[in-house]
Amino acid sequence: MKVIDIINNSKTTQFSFELLPPLKGNNIQTIFDTIDKLAEFSPAYINITYHREEIVSRPGVSGGVEFVKVRRRPGTVSVAAAIQQRYKIDVVPHLICGGFDMQETEDALIDLDFLNIQNVLVLRGDADKITGKFEPKVGGHRHAADLVRQISNLNKGIYFESLMEKPEPTDFCIGVGGYPEKHPEAPNFESDIQHLKEKVDAGASYVVTQMFFDNKKYFDFVNECRAIGITVPIIPGLKPITVKDHTNILPRVFNTQIPQELVREIEKCKSNKDVYQLGIEWTTMQAKELKAANVPAIHFYTMGRPNNIAQIAKIIF
Ligand code: FAD
Repeated sequence: MKVIDIINNSKTTQFSFELLPPLKGNNIQTIFDTIDKLAEFSPAYINITYHREEIVSRPGVSGGVEFVKVRRRPGTVSVAAAIQQRYKIDVVPHLICGGFDMQETEDALIDLDFLNIQNVLVLRGDADKITGKFEPKVGGHRHAADLVRQISNLNKGIYFESLMEKPEPTDFCIGVGGYPEKHPEAPNFESDIQHLKEKVDAGASYVVTQMFFDNKKYFDFVNECRAIGITVPIIPGLKPITVKDHTNILPRVFNTQIPQELVREIEKCKSNKDVYQLGIEWTTMQAKELKAANVPAIHFYTMGRPNNIAQIAKIIF
């Protein structure tokens, strides 16, 4: 079923979570083990992230350093298909602009269609870690809105490769990312939500937010979106902190502020075991308030570690 239908047909807040494909060299059992820990809370759907190739350095054969392209986490589509087949739970593979040209994107969408996967979360993909800039592949998309447009066209039977006589339309439900605390590259909040509106106007049915630790940021964001005419469901994304270093890492990587009250509580923790417990309590508090506000779903970033999410889900769902 499509995520938008799941949400529209449900009167209560749904539970969903995100998984990363296993690191290359590991088998899919790690994915199944994660789902087995969370299945009892009846997830409405499961997202699977997409990971572009990265440039890494390694010692060269004749001394010095050489740079090579690696893909650490391939397999998004096959992981999605394997989950859907084994658990009969709807899946949402992520599809990114980075690393694809339009032809390859079209082929990936055809694979998903044949696998009866009707949902995609459309993202641009991260900027290059070294240059800090995002560069599309030649013939690829620079912004997520362009990729949304390509899929919306496919849903109307308009293919990139226009040689077929009677091409069948696809029927994808498209989600996109939104940033309650602004996307890090956006010059200001106003332009960022205008670009979000562009994605919705291009055909996205719902928005999933970047993680946040202060619910007020989410509620303000929803109000700002509504004020400029974004009417689709906005699903909050939550992640429990697990280690002290998160107070530095998460704001830097995800452009999210950790509230002072939480920072103070983290500082009082004697060990990361205490931080882990605090993370569960804080996220549970956030989830309770969001559920009371009747948000469509709460989406958890598992980062491959389901135990804390299971403890939260046990209380909330
Ligand atoms: P866009 O919507 O293209 O926006 C990127 C930036 O460009 C923003 O600053 C925006 O304001 C600006 N912009 C947009 N349109 C225009 C325009 N026309 N002109 C000028 N500026 C414009 N990354 C992955 O690699 N794999 C994943 O699986 C993945 N999953 C994610 C899941 C969620 C829920 C979220 C929120 C993020 C995820 N990301 C993932 C990270 C994402 O790829 C990055 O945040 C990326 O930097 C931006 O993606 P976007 O789709 O929001 O891009």
